[in-house]
Amino acid sequence: MDPQEHIDTITAAQELIAEALTMLQGVARSTRNGWAENYIIAPLSILINGEHGYISRDANLDDWIKSLLDDEDEGADDACPFCDGPVGQDPTRPGVAICQHCAEPVAFTPAN
Ligand SMILES: [Zn+2]
Repeated sequence: MDPQEHIDTITAAQELIAEALTMLQGVARSTRNGWAENYIIAPLSILINGEHGYISRDANLDDWIKSLLDDEDEGADDACPFCDGPVGQDPTRPGVAICQHCAEPVAFTPAN
């Protein structure tokens, strides 16, 4: 499947989650429910994208989109963060990138 189709699907999910978040936020605020704010609203906000204002390094859907875009680039200029070696597909684990030199699994780096 075209990576752009996956990205479009994730983007659509972001919009649905944002809509759900607005609905749930309304309930949490009108009931002054701090538990819901902390354990339901905050994690959902953090999941959608990096623009939530919470201090968190948790992964969000923009990170996922970025990883799909990085996969699409085919990683010619990707280098291992540990040894600077070339990064390639792990032959035994589809979708996992590993360093061809030190064999460390290599995660994408979210942009700031
Ligand atoms: Zn390496």
